[in-house]
Amino acid sequence: MNKYPLAKPYLDKVDEDGVLEVLRSGCLSLGPKYQEFERQFAEKVGTKYACAVSSGTCGLHLTLIAAGVKPGDEVITSPFSFIASSNCIVYVGATPIFVDVDEMTYNLDPALIEKVITDKTTAIVIPHIFGQSADMDPIMELAKKYNLHVIEDACESLCAEYKGTKVGGIGESGVFAFYANKQMTTGEGGMIVTNDERIYKLCASLRNQGRSDNLQWLDHVHLGYNYRMDEMSASLGITQLAKLDYFISERQKIALWYEEALASYSDMVTSPQTADYTTNTWFVYVVRLQKYVDKRDHLILDLAKQGVSTKPYLPSIHLSDYYQKNFSINTEGMFPVSESVSASSLALPFYIGLTKEDIKAIIEYLISTLRAYET
Ligand SMILES: *Cc1c(COP(=O)(O)O)cnc(C)c1O
Repeated sequence: MNKYPLAKPYLDKVDEDGVLEVLRSGCLSLGPKYQEFERQFAEKVGTKYACAVSSGTCGLHLTLIAAGVKPGDEVITSPFSFIASSNCIVYVGATPIFVDVDEMTYNLDPALIEKVITDKTTAIVIPHIFGQSADMDPIMELAKKYNLHVIEDACESLCAEYKGTKVGGIGESGVFAFYANKQMTTGEGGMIVTNDERIYKLCASLRNQGRSDNLQWLDHVHLGYNYRMDEMSASLGITQLAKLDYFISERQKIALWYEEALASYSDMVTSPQTADYTTNTWFVYVVRLQKYVDKRDHLILDLAKQGVSTKPYLPSIHLSDYYQKNFSINTEGMFPVSESVSASSLALPFYIGLTKEDIKAIIEYLISTLRAYET
């Protein structure tokens, strides 16, 4: 009994026809679709180059390589993110150095960065969480001062604008992801964007076994990978991208309905806030419990029984088993904001097709379940 799943992709006949066309063409990889998708995507995000890859995670891996991050380096990042934004640092042998987040936006707090910069620091991986941009001006200033590479993990914030510039194109490179719960989907898939030709060419080579520019078979100049995006995914990318403005405005509308429905319960649950320097394209709708925080995981189970899917969003990376074992300097209590958000946050059902009545019903389930804990 799942009345309200947490997320759901929006797919229509045009998406289906496009994928079928690829299947019938027999050209399933390295065809015309991924190049067309790259061209349109770069135009949408406002960067010179876009490089399609098979996931956001491998996009992040390649941008770290392209930045020249190497074993022994330290890379500053946020503990409040999806784990891939930190794992990519570990992939290249560097050490993630966490910095706590801002209480309102849950994005990395720029005021805390300078303190942790050492002579080993070479880069910042800056996630834009939940649909809004991190505060980029002070981050770019520090990067300039200390000569650091800035990689934007924009996987959750496609088309969010920081002071009028779309995320992904602010740092030296940016990465997007198209898993089925993101603002648009290709099934699995990702995209690297950059204005730097060298980075673009290197990433394009690395995703394809390290082949040289001329794409000569078996001509390998780098240690490459197979991180290519297939043509079915790329076709979905093209037809989904055509609907992206609609997707985003629907998400903004649903977020507004949630905010209205929650307004009178702010003593129990608070709605998310967007900073004034950014627009919000709403990856997820995450509320914070103000009461019964210790019952949060119980609440998730109680809501599931009533057909309402919710989820803790997000667990703090430094407290995950792998990071506790391998980066044991990051103990509990070190990043209090991230940890308290992780403990009190709850993602609510959020996808196109939810009506205003659905939102009211979901909030009624939430509030009545919380009220039952009062007695
Ligand atoms: C979704 C996401 C990714 C990467 O996702 P893939 O599943 O590898 O496509 C990376 N970082 C963040 C913050 C994400 O939300």
